[in-house]
Amino acid sequence: MITAAYQGMDGAYSDVLLRQHFGARGEELETLGLPTFRDVAVALLAGRARYGVLPLENTLTGTFRVGYDLVAQYDLVPVRDIVFRMDHRLLGVPGATLAGLERIEAHPIVLEECGRFLATLPGARPVPAIDTGAAARDVAEGRNPKVAAIAPPEAAQRYGLVELAANIADHPDNFTRFLLVEAVPKEQRTPSESAKRRTSVLFATAHEHGLLARCLTVLADAGVNLTKLESRPRPGRTWEYLFYADFEGDAATPAIAAALATVRERCSEFRLLGSYDVESIEKATPIVAPSLPSAKGISSAASSPAPLIPVHAAAKNWPKVARAAKPEGTQLRIGGTLVGGGGFVIVAGPCSVESREQVFATAEAVRARGAVMLRGGAFKPRTNPYAFQGLGWGGVDLLAEAGRATGLPTVSEVMSLDQVERMARAVDVLQIGARNMQNFDLLKAVGRTTRPIMLKRGLSATLDELLAAAEYILSEGNPHVILCERGIRTFETATRNTLDLSAVPVLRERTHLPIFVDPSHGVGVRRWIRPLARAAKAVGADGIIVEVHPNPAEAKSDADQALTFADFAEIVSELGEIPTFGA
Ligand code: PEP
Ligand code: MN
Repeated sequence: MITAAYQGMDGAYSDVLLRQHFGARGEELETLGLPTFRDVAVALLAGRARYGVLPLENTLTGTFRVGYDLVAQYDLVPVRDIVFRMDHRLLGVPGATLAGLERIEAHPIVLEECGRFLATLPGARPVPAIDTGAAARDVAEGRNPKVAAIAPPEAAQRYGLVELAANIADHPDNFTRFLLVEAVPKEQRTPSESAKRRTSVLFATAHEHGLLARCLTVLADAGVNLTKLESRPRPGRTWEYLFYADFEGDAATPAIAAALATVRERCSEFRLLGSYDVESIEKATPIVAPSLPSAKGISSAASSPAPLIPVHAAAKNWPKVARAAKPEGTQLRIGGTLVGGGGFVIVAGPCSVESREQVFATAEAVRARGAVMLRGGAFKPRTNPYAFQGLGWGGVDLLAEAGRATGLPTVSEVMSLDQVERMARAVDVLQIGARNMQNFDLLKAVGRTTRPIMLKRGLSATLDELLAAAEYILSEGNPHVILCERGIRTFETATRNTLDLSAVPVLRERTHLPIFVDPSHGVGVRRWIRPLARAAKAVGADGIIVEVHPNPAEAKSDADQALTFADFAEIVSELGEIPTFGA
């Protein structure tokens, strides 16, 4: 049995992380929660725990000085760094509601990471707690529906709390890098498991012109790749600074050891904190199904248990997409977003990418208002050959850039075979437009990629034809398909198309693939999109895709159906009480 110490209480992030880390190695673990980080260091030195865990830095709030300082002060030995996704949930007692909250407790850094969400709840006062586990326990013990805690989902289970909101950090890519440390004699130390090593040092240079640059040059000349450099004040030496640096590689490597010896000579103070294994960010714990609280009585039917389903006669024509092939349903993870996991996913962006300003402004606006994926066409299937055809690859690059800048995965339409490979490298999801639903060569080509495909229903396609089209993609080896109902041609001309919402429950029975609705193309008129977005959720869709433009009157395509940022905010707030940031 291994004992590992952390700061906090059962259900805190470090506790969850330790359990996952040692659990994955099949080790039996006892975690020891202590009031302060210093207590963790002391417990290691006293032999009360074999390992300890200390935070080093967070991707939203920066360095935790305490982690580096305690390693230096107590000569702790770093074993490996562990990157952990901070999956913040707002947890309350059963019966609590967002509107009724008066206090929200969490670790002060966690409150900072969720600043924008908290600003949307002006009636609730943020209150610092010693850690997330303690906050969750307090809420559970207090049984007060006016108080909630921000904590990991595991804390909800541990303390019997319910989730009031998910994905509440200021940015979905919210990772903390922790350091697993030990304090045992050299011969008992944990052996390295990875060829990927990192080294951390702490140093101060004399107050002499160019000295810092010269130290860094020594490292650069030795081929050392710095991954972090940060300065902080030196207590007692006013306006002098101490530097933390992390770099790739092991300090025992001859070239690095020689470079460090030179740096050491140039510094007034130098501490090698140690070299340790590196855990890559890809291994960071995935976000689990985002379950948005439902508002105004609309709940997502997607999450209700699957009813007993009659097998459809045509299922033999599309064995791979048929519900029976995967009765539990397909879930796709796209960036940090889970599609088909019972949550309701909102994809938004312009019909066409028109300019850098337009796509960046839209990306930022929709992200801030609750979209989790960014759409934007660059190759446009226009009825009229003289209409705006899209910016082509320049537009794709702008979309990808805006996606990276906002942390949103991207989706864009691929129109022809020769575009498939490059598009698959540039964006996260490939869209097959309605007009290409039965372009079988194109379907086969995207079926040979590993990207998720958003397959839109053809203008006059039956649902079985849509399923057969999806089967083309799966038959080539790509199982990641989302079906999208976007309206069909009927005798009705009042709306651009007739949004066939009955497609959702029918498809749900016939296939395990996730199902989206595109109310923008479905009705083609801005003011009717909102009720149909609600209807899409009510009927059990896994998400919607909508068109948004900073200035709809000037949109170069589909202007009549483009939502303003304010329209979009209203739609989102109705769908899931996702916070709306700003106007
Ligand atoms: C689009 O999404 O911009 C589009 C052209 O959609 P559809 O293929 O459904 O018409
Ligand atoms: Mn469009």
